[in-house]
This record gives sequence, structure tokens and C-alpha cells, in this order.
Amino acid sequence: MSTLIRGGTVVNATGAVAADVLVQGEKIAALVAPGFEVQADTVIDATGKYVIPGGIDGHTHMEMPFGGTSSVDTFETGTTAAAWGGTTTIIDFAVQAKGTSLLSTLDKWHSKADGNCAVDYGFHMIVSDVNDTSLKEMESCIDAGVNTFKMFMAYPGVFYATDGEILRAMQKARETGATIMMHAENGIAIDQLVAQALANGKTDPVQHGLTRPPELEGEATSRAIALAKVTGSPLYIVHLSASHALDAVTKARDTGQNVFAETCPQYLFLSLEDLAKPDFEGAKYVASPPLRPKEHQTELWRGLRTNDLSLVSTDHCPFCFKDQKELGRGDFSKIPNGMPGVEHRMDLLHQGVVRGELSLERWVEISSTTPARMFGLYPRKGVIAPGADADIVVYDPTAEQTLSAATHHMNVDYSAYEGMELTGKVDTVLSRGKVVVDGDGFHGGAGHGRFLGRDLNQYLV
Ligand SMILES: [Zn+2]
Repeated sequence: MSTLIRGGTVVNATGAVAADVLVQGEKIAALVAPGFEVQADTVIDATGKYVIPGGIDGHTHMEMPFGGTSSVDTFETGTTAAAWGGTTTIIDFAVQAKGTSLLSTLDKWHSKADGNCAVDYGFHMIVSDVNDTSLKEMESCIDAGVNTFKMFMAYPGVFYATDGEILRAMQKARETGATIMMHAENGIAIDQLVAQALANGKTDPVQHGLTRPPELEGEATSRAIALAKVTGSPLYIVHLSASHALDAVTKARDTGQNVFAETCPQYLFLSLEDLAKPDFEGAKYVASPPLRPKEHQTELWRGLRTNDLSLVSTDHCPFCFKDQKELGRGDFSKIPNGMPGVEHRMDLLHQGVVRGELSLERWVEISSTTPARMFGLYPRKGVIAPGADADIVVYDPTAEQTLSAATHHMNVDYSAYEGMELTGKVDTVLSRGKVVVDGDGFHGGAGHGRFLGRDLNQYLV
């Protein structure tokens, strides 16, 4: 079975070129200069469109337990929504509960995802219990294709790790080549601010933002960088939201330290003003770290251009407004933390191209190529090249669309971007050679997606 994607502009991180793309089976067989005759069973017309590697979202939480409830996208609904938005790989987080083993956690997440994903998927491992056994188990996880371990400086009593625990895990990462991912917010200080706000009767969603000031993200980021420096561990800061944290990352990278960071669309497009919306509507925007005052956005876009921010993931963690976000009416600290976004990352980042914040190539790089290299999937993923998986998006850069909960495919009852008008839209999506989305709708299904055992971070030298 062969498919020819004809007449488009192939955009890789290294440049754009007019070429036809020949797909055979699950792989890209060839790039062909326009005008050369090639036979194929099916032809997809990409005239006037971009042909880009499928998006890789390195940070999602499907079916994740949190605060007595669970994120509402299943692996099936979440990966289906991802496919609609041009994302053909997700990397989700297996969550170790305290007192359980990493390997049984990994088994549990495999059984949630196996046979249920519409696109390919991998796992990171959340380490919430650092001890001799779990440190040893990190080695087995690496052998099983899971070599990125997330820790938390936030959420005392839940996921929180002490500096000593972080140090020990980082030593193991240094020894094995693994990467430590960090949720960098000073949770000990934040918990005091939260308790004080509630004691003073300040209960609205905006307090979620005000009790998690950007300085405490900057401080935790600097501390994580110092611990990584001492241990020699690679460090990846997840969902960086504040200029204070970006300054710390920039400084570390300037010294040559193996420090990387992602940001998320919500920090580029939304702000504290959304969190301050009246009638509890701000609850829709509660995620941690919180949305920041608008001036941080300028710095984040700058960071994406200068590569101080390496890539953009969504931290997709959807909770419905009704019944779930509403758990926090009268107490903002009980609002489940997380926002939906897996479907819209490619389109939102394309606005960066439209507005002149990003080059076309950089758009592809931060949404696909860099995640592939950062998470050990390149050149199988993240590039339109012979031999790569045929994860391909035909993207129409001139189509107009309006985001809305009425039309999105995520299993959640609101859109954080309701009414936002965007330029550019996914036209056709191939996942390993199979057309899963086109003008007629969705042709994929649960079970098409396969687990991806991953190599180590390819940015390390
Ligand atoms: Zn997350």
C-alpha cells in the first residue's frame, strides 16, 4: 500500500522545500522533486499546503487521578483529540503512588493505554517515593524504554520530594544517562500562602495565581539547576511559566549545563486575567504553575526564539467545569489543577508564525523535531525523511477556524480558548502511513497507537 502526498511544501526543522512525499506501508519511502513521475495507490493533493512531521506532545495526563477525581480524557479520547489537532505521538506520565513500586506503576499504565490509543505513545515516570528500591527500579524502567523521571518541588504530602531525595534521584540519572524532569515551584512556601489566603476569606480562583507567585517558580528552578549542577544530572524543567524561571534556565544554558525547559500554550496565550474571570469561571484556568500576568508572555516567546525554551508541550490534564472544577467553589485550593489543550497545540503555535514570533521551521522544531530528540525518538519521529515513520500532517496555513467546546474532540465540557479565531488548520493526518483524519472525518481508532520504548535524550554529549 503506497500513498503519494503531492504538490506541498515539506517543512522540516532544517528548512522548507517543494517535494512530493512517498509513503510505503508505515514508513516514508522517499522525497521526490516536483515533476518526477511516481506511481502510488493513493494520491493526496497538498497543493498550497505544508507537509510537516506529526506533532509530538511530550506532556499529557490522560485518566490521571488527582485530588479525589480523575482527568476526563481517556487514552482513547485524548489520543483521538490529539490526532484531530495534528499530534501523532504523546508521552504521558505514569504516576507512582507513595508506597508502591515503579515497575508495578509502569504495568498499571501499560494496561490503561494498551489497545486504547489512536496514536503512538510513550511514558515518563513520576517518582514520588525515593528509596533504595525505587532508585534501583529506575534502571529497569530505562531498560523498558522509560528514561525520563519527573519529580515535584510542589504539592507537599502528595508528590513533593525533598532536596535530598531529588539529589539522590539525580545521582542515579547521572549514572544512567536518564533525565530528571522537574515541577519547579516552592510548594512549602506556597502552602503557607494558600492557608493564609483561605484564613482571610480569599477563596476565588484568582487566589490560585496570587498564592503561587512567579518568584517561587524562579527560586525552585534555580534550586533544581543547582542540584543538577552538583550531581551532573541532565535536567528538564516542565511547564515553565514565569520569566523568573526562564532567567535561571537561560543562565544555566549559557554556562553549558544540560538544562532544558518546555513551556505550554496556555502560558503563551492566556494570563492571570483569565484566572480572575468572575462567577467562578476562573476555575477553568486553574493549573500549576498558574497563568501569569501578561508581561511574561513576551519573555516566553523570546525564549522560544532563542532556544532557551526548547519546545512546547501541553500539560493536557482536563477536568470538566461541571462537577469537577466545581469541587473548589468556596475554596480555590480544592479546584482540580489542570487544563485541556492536546488538540490545539499545533494550531496555537502556528499563530506564532502568523504573528511573526516564530519562523516556519522553528514551529516544526518546537512542536515535533525537538521533542523527538529530547525524548529519544528521532529519526523515527520528528522529521519528514526516508525511513522515518509516516506520521505526517498536511497543514493548510490559510484556513480560518474558531476554537470552541462545541466543536473540539476532547472529552471536556469547556474550551480554555472559547471563541479564539485562528489562522491555519490541520487538513490531513497520517499516523504510521494510515490516514486517520481528513476532510471526511476521523478514520483512526483505539488500538492503532503503539507503545514507543525510547532512547536516551539525544541532546546530551
Ligand atoms: Zn503535568
